[in-house]
Amino acid sequence: MHRPGLHEGSSLVLHHGGVDDYADFGRLCSAVYVAARAGAVDCTAAFDLAASWLEDDPQDPDATELATLSLDCARAGQPRMAEVALRLLAAHDFRPGFAEEPGLLARLEEAMDMVNRDLAATGVHRRCRLRVHDDDGLNWPVNAYVETWDGYRGTAQGVYPGSGANPVWALVDVAEDGQDAVMHSLWAAWPLCPVHGLGAHAREHEGAAVWWCAGGGGHAVTPVGEW
Ligand SMILES: [Zn+2]
Repeated sequence: MHRPGLHEGSSLVLHHGGVDDYADFGRLCSAVYVAARAGAVDCTAAFDLAASWLEDDPQDPDATELATLSLDCARAGQPRMAEVALRLLAAHDFRPGFAEEPGLLARLEEAMDMVNRDLAATGVHRRCRLRVHDDDGLNWPVNAYVETWDGYRGTAQGVYPGSGANPVWALVDVAEDGQDAVMHSLWAAWPLCPVHGLGAHAREHEGAAVWWCAGGGGHAVTPVGEW
């Protein structure tokens, strides 16, 4: 059985390892991730994590190695334990959120600044800000979303933390969510292609984040942030 991604809202309940519910398991994964990124994994937490996976997949080589290393709990084994723990988490679709990786949010904030430049360049001299949904107490990462100067937001899911892992994804996703929010506030299409008068949409094009217009067979109006 493959464990589902932690963001998928599964109600999988573990039955082993002293980890008695899914939210606890999520907190365990989060704690091990943060510790492993810092290069110092707690042996008890690492063992709990390994044991949970071995219950489902007794042959998993990474979980087996992590269990062995965590039982030894030798200082010299720490780097290897961190490496194996991160690989195990990644292989089982653990996705760090803003809490585990603050740099993801920082990159989305940079993208927000770029989208605000486009707002100003198109004559909307108000700023949007990036906000983060409240942690709902569950164990999947919460999303960020764009809020306009007057409190409007988009109707979609917002921006996943993983978008902050790549500057182009960050720009496209923040621009897309920002557009949705801005259009709710302006009650009009934004931004408009100056050639065709059509609403442009953010997309990745030739490795860059651009505002794309469907007019004239489709064309990039401008890179996001450079309107
Ligand atoms: Zn156009």
